[in-house]
Amino acid sequence: MSEKLALVTGGSRGIGKACALKLAQAGYDVVINYAGNTEAATKTVEEIKALGVEAEAYRFDISNQSEVDENIARIVEKYGRIDILVNNAGITRDDLFIRMDSEKWNAVINTNLNSAFYVSKPVVKVMMKQRSGAIVNMASIVGVYGNIGQANYCAAKAGLIGFTKSLAKELGSRNIRVNAIAPGFIETDMTKDLGNTEEFLKLIPLKRMGKPEDIAAAVKFLAVDSTYVTGQVLEVDGGLVI
Ligand code: NAP
Repeated sequence: MSEKLALVTGGSRGIGKACALKLAQAGYDVVINYAGNTEAATKTVEEIKALGVEAEAYRFDISNQSEVDENIARIVEKYGRIDILVNNAGITRDDLFIRMDSEKWNAVINTNLNSAFYVSKPVVKVMMKQRSGAIVNMASIVGVYGNIGQANYCAAKAGLIGFTKSLAKELGSRNIRVNAIAPGFIETDMTKDLGNTEEFLKLIPLKRMGKPEDIAAAVKFLAVDSTYVTGQVLEVDGGLVI
C-alpha cells in the first residue's frame, strides 16, 4: 500500500478513469467511485492495479448524502487518509429551459453540485487533520459561459466554481488547495451522441475534441505538481473560448 490516497468520483469511465490512471502513475493508491456500471469499474480497478498501486471501487450514489457518508467513512477507516479528491462524477439532462421540468433540474443539481458538498465535507475533515490535501472539482466551460439547452448543467457547474473559490479561501491556511477544471468538448460516453461534431470542430483552434487524458494531465498538474495554485479555474478546451 502506498502512503498516499486519491479518491476519484465517477472514476470508472471517461474523464474520471483517465484521472484515476494518471494519479496511479504518479504513485497514488486510488479509490474510484461509480453509480451502477460494475463491469466498467472492475476493469478500471484492474488497469490501475497493473500500474503497481492499490485500487478499489466503491459503488454509491454521490447525490445521496447518507450513502456518501457511509462510504467515505469506510474508505477513511481502511486507508486512514485522503490526499487528493477529484469531484468528477456528473450527468446531463439537457432540454430547452422552457421545457425543462423539475426532475431534470433536480437530478443535475443534486448529482453535479450537491454531491460536491456531500463528498467534500467528510473528506475535508480528514484533510484538515492531515494539514494537507488537494481537491479538484470538474466544472465545465459552459459553467463559465452558459449554453443553450443546459440551464441545469451550467447552473450546477457555475455553482461548483463558486464552491471551489470559497473553499480555497477557507482551507488555504490548513494547506489544502482547491481548484477546478473547465473542460471543453471531451470524447467520452457523455458526448458520444452530440452529433454535429464537424460544426464544433470549426470552433476549436486545436481542431480536435479533447481526450480524457488531456483533462487528466491538468488534474495531475493541479493536484500533484502545483504547490502554490489555489482557487483557480483551468479551462482545458483546445482554445474553444479565448
Ligand atoms: P461519463 O463518461 O458519462 O462518466 C460518468 C462517470 O460518473 C461514470 O463513472 C459514472 O458511473 C459516474 N456517475 C454518474 N452519476 C453518478 C452518481 N450519481 N454517483 C456516482 N457516480 C456517478 O462522463 P465524463 O464525460 O467522463 O464526465 C466526467 C465529468 O466531466 C462530469 O462531471 C462532466 O460534467 C464533466 N465534463 C465533461 C465534459 C465532456 O465533454 N465529456 C465536458 C465538460 C465537463 P457509472 O459508470 O456507474 O455510470
